[in-house]
Amino acid sequence: MSLEPSAQQASSERTEELCESLAEIRARVTAAAGSAPASEPPQKLVAVSKYKPSSDISVCFNEGQRDFGENYVQELVDKANELPLEIRWHFIGTLQSNKAKLLASIPNLHTVQTLSSEKVANALNKALPPSRTTPLNILIQINTSGEDAKSGLPPLTASSICTSPSTSPSSNSPPSELQKLAKHIITSCPNLRLQGLMTIGSLDQSLSAKETDQNADFERLKETRDILQKWLQSELGESSSTKGEETEGVQRWGDEGTGKLLLSMGMSSDFEAALKAGSDIVRVGTGIFGSRKTKDEMKRL
Ligand SMILES: *Cc1c(COP(=O)(O)O)cnc(C)c1O
Repeated sequence: MSLEPSAQQASSERTEELCESLAEIRARVTAAAGSAPASEPPQKLVAVSKYKPSSDISVCFNEGQRDFGENYVQELVDKANELPLEIRWHFIGTLQSNKAKLLASIPNLHTVQTLSSEKVANALNKALPPSRTTPLNILIQINTSGEDAKSGLPPLTASSICTSPSTSPSSNSPPSELQKLAKHIITSCPNLRLQGLMTIGSLDQSLSAKETDQNADFERLKETRDILQKWLQSELGESSSTKGEETEGVQRWGDEGTGKLLLSMGMSSDFEAALKAGSDIVRVGTGIFGSRKTKDEMKRL
């Protein structure tokens, strides 16, 4: 667990500050997750360390934090090079297919949370080195708020999929982009494992939900997951097989333990609400590391 010599050490003041905020966020995650149904898979905190130095990550690592999220491929490559292999890196930024190879070369890349195209899925599937012993976890990003500035595929609604009893099966609507991508990952990308869905959601929803306790973006992601999960089961059969030989008992998608599609939703401002709404993975940056410099400020450095 000792640090590579190239990684700088945080000052004792910074260390103390980080330990305190990480402990506080963990306590809040545990408390909020406790009110979710007991059958849910265990909650997971991803510490979002974009723009923050490796020395900050080391402090959290020494406190037992293992999951970290980064938004930029080159920044992640540089940090992964100087930090311990036990870290589980989550890529949470916009991914272009021409960067897939570089990203896939990181041996301890654990999850890409922001996939939204077959092109990038294929690029990742092809680029993963044979030395990898586990598939790369994939979350498909959903643009639940429909904002132009946000990436991701449109959510599913019950009315967009279901056929009314009076219509014949042939009038089924064709599979959506999300359905096609999910099926493609499962059936054509053996080095990837579809683990769930991710959303960012709108700031408005996050703020208004503080008062109403209902965040429409979180509800949309849950509904989308439920519909997709059902559709995949009818299309491809149960994920967690009890049928033996056919699928050799291997879960082909979803969480390792349950075969359920997981939800990644909730950030510093709304992770408690997200956990109460059933989130499995929350991504917390400023709550742990403090405020970030803006992109423009970074460029001027
Ligand atoms: C930066 C970022 C976060 C963390 O946001 P905070 O508000 O700092 O907690 C979470 N998710 C994504 C996709 C991000 O880009």
